Amino acid sequence: MTIAEKEIKKFENHNCAENAVFYQAMEEVIYSIAPLLESDEKYSRHAILERLVVPDRIIKFKVTWLDDENKVQVNTGFRVQFNNALGPYKGGLRFHPSVNEGVLKFLGFEQILKNSLTGLSIGGAKGGSDFDPKGKSDFEIMKFCTAFMTELHKYIGPRIDVPAGDIGVGEREIGYLFGEYKKLTSSYEGALTGKPFFFGGSLMRPQATGYGAVYFTESMLEIEAKEPLSGKICTVSGAGNVALHAIEKLQQIGAIVVSCSDSHGTIYDPRGVDLELLKDIKEKRRASLEEYCSAHNEATYTSVLEYPEGGHAVWEIPCYAAFPCATQNELTELDAQTLITNGCVSVTEGANMPTTREATALLLSHKICFAPAKAANAGGVAVSEFEMSQNASMSKWSFEKVDAKLKETMQMICKRVALTAKDYGVEGNYVDGANIAGFKKVADAMIAEGI
Ligand code: NDP
Repeated sequence: MTIAEKEIKKFENHNCAENAVFYQAMEEVIYSIAPLLESDEKYSRHAILERLVVPDRIIKFKVTWLDDENKVQVNTGFRVQFNNALGPYKGGLRFHPSVNEGVLKFLGFEQILKNSLTGLSIGGAKGGSDFDPKGKSDFEIMKFCTAFMTELHKYIGPRIDVPAGDIGVGEREIGYLFGEYKKLTSSYEGALTGKPFFFGGSLMRPQATGYGAVYFTESMLEIEAKEPLSGKICTVSGAGNVALHAIEKLQQIGAIVVSCSDSHGTIYDPRGVDLELLKDIKEKRRASLEEYCSAHNEATYTSVLEYPEGGHAVWEIPCYAAFPCATQNELTELDAQTLITNGCVSVTEGANMPTTREATALLLSHKICFAPAKAANAGGVAVSEFEMSQNASMSKWSFEKVDAKLKETMQMICKRVALTAKDYGVEGNYVDGANIAGFKKVADAMIAEGI
């Protein structure tokens, strides 16, 4: 039995339906860090894995709010404070009906290693609710956010735990959450990041994750001696914060982005996506993507209902580089095979764990440059930390300064991941490189801080 198999056996009790994605993330990390565990027995002696896979605490609470018809609605809220060995707990809030403890444990666990990779002083956490913001009025969103914060404020603070946005939580929601935090604590402090710029947000926070993923990809392609993205066909999935800003940066550097998608379907526009129109549909009006085709009749729309067997229309479009930026497990083994057949050179995870384990293994075995989420999408949390620094010193950095620091951070992460992979005998494997580099820093801090 290999060391990885032995370690995984210890955690078999974590493998149940609700924990499926958490177990998937944990298994990947354990396989990746096996060379580190073999080379230094101190990690086993200090039971680091056993300690790391259990959150410091999980806060679960009831959220009761009144809808526009004055009916009482009840949701569940969560905050998973996973690990603060490197700094205050930090990670986003997700509002989506699929949210449960297992999903947040997966995201919080990934966040520990991601935050470690940034080299900044931030620990790992994640939170959210099964509340569905879709179809709710602004007033209902505000009432839900207010009720959510009534409970959450007891557990957060600029030196304790600093939540941010994620799926379903953008500037609007962070604004309402911050307003209520301020009221409840009588304190104007950076207990949340992702705030609008005019009351404490950082310039470039909305762009950070998408732009960061593109900066990471440019750096990875250069290290791997592949052609740059300029002039190349790229496919992007999703049409939310990460996807829109990945498309924006790709277009700025001269790449041709021909797709986007949402939970209902995919747009393929061979002439290149019209970003202004897309922002108008998805950001301003929160409408259906299908509308895109009425303005661009050369574009096609494919409904997800046409893909019941798990292949996804967006990955059937031939491309040089693919950017899954929607949600977890959206790129399956079948999709990976299609990408390989169509000559794809690189895949960058803008979303958290959008690629299934089987798909990742297939892409790596075909030497596709593969940028894993915990490295490639760390730009969002890095700029969140810049927002914490600005709040603490009551200063405001220029767009250029934040952008330069973001680019530098993403290049640094990319080099560190590539070097770590080389040092541990898995050159070119950015999954193992990211897991080992991220784990080692947290583990060393945990050992130094005692039990
Ligand atoms: P948003 O809520 O802004 O957007 C999510 C997008 O994904 C929407 O367009 C949504 O469609 C689409 N989507 C959701 N489920 C599916 C599906 N099953 N198939 C196709 N599309 C789908 O979220 P973000 O852009 O903020 O987050 C996207 C991903 O990036 C998540 O995995 C998140 O954890 C990760 N991430 C986000 C960061 C950030 O800074 N925002 C930071 C790091 C990671 P619809 O509109 O129909 O719901």
